[in-house]
Amino acid sequence: MITHILLDIEGTTCPTSFVSDTLFPYAYTHLEEFLNEHKENNEIQSLIDEAWGEWQADTDPSSKDLLSKALMKNSSEIENICSYLHHLITIDRKSSALKDLQGRIWREGYEKGDLCSSLYPETLEALSKLKQQEYILAVYSSGSISAQKLLYRHTAGGDQTALFSHWFDTRTGNKKESKSYSDICIAMNIPVEKVIFVSDSYAECDAAEKAGMSVLFSLREGNPEQDPHDHKAIKDLWYLFDYLL
Ligand SMILES: [Mg+2]
Repeated sequence: MITHILLDIEGTTCPTSFVSDTLFPYAYTHLEEFLNEHKENNEIQSLIDEAWGEWQADTDPSSKDLLSKALMKNSSEIENICSYLHHLITIDRKSSALKDLQGRIWREGYEKGDLCSSLYPETLEALSKLKQQEYILAVYSSGSISAQKLLYRHTAGGDQTALFSHWFDTRTGNKKESKSYSDICIAMNIPVEKVIFVSDSYAECDAAEKAGMSVLFSLREGNPEQDPHDHKAIKDLWYLFDYLL
């Protein structure tokens, strides 16, 4: 019997467009202003240093080209590092310094009221109902745990973080590797057969299934993946109830 529901966020509880059309552009636009405002803060300065280190070690020709141009110009350190971080966002490359900064920019945006997360229309009602029925809800998303909590803290329906008992991000492991799902079960102290995982990525569903979890593929309009392959697909979270009996 399923007792635990492990949920992806983007494409599963929250439209991918909120992340791509709201969150990422917000961080992009506010990056320079944020760094200038907080450059005296030691944590921010060490993130700037970390980004410089990443840039110097970056072997991508476009990044190297940008670096030699930056070194020739008389721009400020912040202008330079912004040009690199903007470049990383444009080419959709992962960077731990960038990820950390984006999280901090979003936090400020949510706290200022500039940002409010937009979930699917049924998300909160369906999850509340599951929680009422004593299912244990957990999050597994590639966004950092602090970004996950921000997203659920600032919803149109208020702070929803209490819905979830466990939070996992890629520090647990890659979402496309089955070991990550086994490790999540160890962390939740629950046999893998008691967990159902929902995601809009069939490769993630494959990995979870390989670990022994039940899986459902979230098939939504607007999601980049529209082919569930061998997985059962659900059109919204209400369909989850059909699989929990
Ligand atoms: Mg997803």
